[in-house]
Amino acid sequence: MKGQCKLCSKTKKLIKAHMIPEWCFKHGSNPDENAIIATNDPMRRAETRSPGSVGIYDKNILCEACDGSFSEWEQHFKEEFFQKFLTFSSQEPPPLEHPIILSQGFSQEKLKLFFISLLWRASISKHSFYRRVNCGIKHETKLKEMLIKNNAGDPSEFSVWAKYYADKDKISYSKSVFIPLRCTIHKVNCYTFALLGFEFTIKSCSRPTPPTLKNAVLGETGIWPCIPKNFIGSEMQEIAIKVGQRIVTEEHARSNAKKLSGR
Ligand SMILES: [Zn+2]
Repeated sequence: MKGQCKLCSKTKKLIKAHMIPEWCFKHGSNPDENAIIATNDPMRRAETRSPGSVGIYDKNILCEACDGSFSEWEQHFKEEFFQKFLTFSSQEPPPLEHPIILSQGFSQEKLKLFFISLLWRASISKHSFYRRVNCGIKHETKLKEMLIKNNAGDPSEFSVWAKYYADKDKISYSKSVFIPLRCTIHKVNCYTFALLGFEFTIKSCSRPTPPTLKNAVLGETGIWPCIPKNFIGSEMQEIAIKVGQRIVTEEHARSNAKKLSGR
């Protein structure tokens, strides 16, 4: 379908663009195993479950060239953040309750640009999964400028910090992609993306970063600490509980339908 690309503004063929990268939805020891999409969205689209189209995408935002311009940063996030932490957390005993520190091999600029692109794509997308993400025109324009100029900005602009779930029940959340949530920390507006056992929070307003979090901000020092927190008792757990209830309902609905059709 042709339309105006939101990044280059040209009228071109638009493609199925992912906001959260497609590989996050394919995570699992079995390559055919897809992530659990955790959302309390009653309008969740069937596309998230259809074969050959993994994850959640928007067909109305990006041309192929612009979508491809993010792949280097997505790849960097996958290799230098995610895969490194997987190795770390598979160690025995697992290093729980201490910050895991990313200290080498990564580019702060590339990681930051990945998070800038994530927030911008989520904010401009009309997909219901991202309905809570809306940075407003002023900040969307700023994010877009940073992407076009490959400019990761000052650490205080759209500051990013990371946490990981340290409680023992890793089964469900380490395979889940959660609906992004808006939160306010010391009057600072932020969005939190919980992906595969991690929480990434991105500041989305012009207020200064809360001083207690400053040392955890990407780019602020030479290292990037990832802070432990408990999944139990978190907002994400509440969502997981709601989703769990609905998954049961959907399964019941399917098996009921089967029974009925078998009669
Ligand atoms: Zn474009």
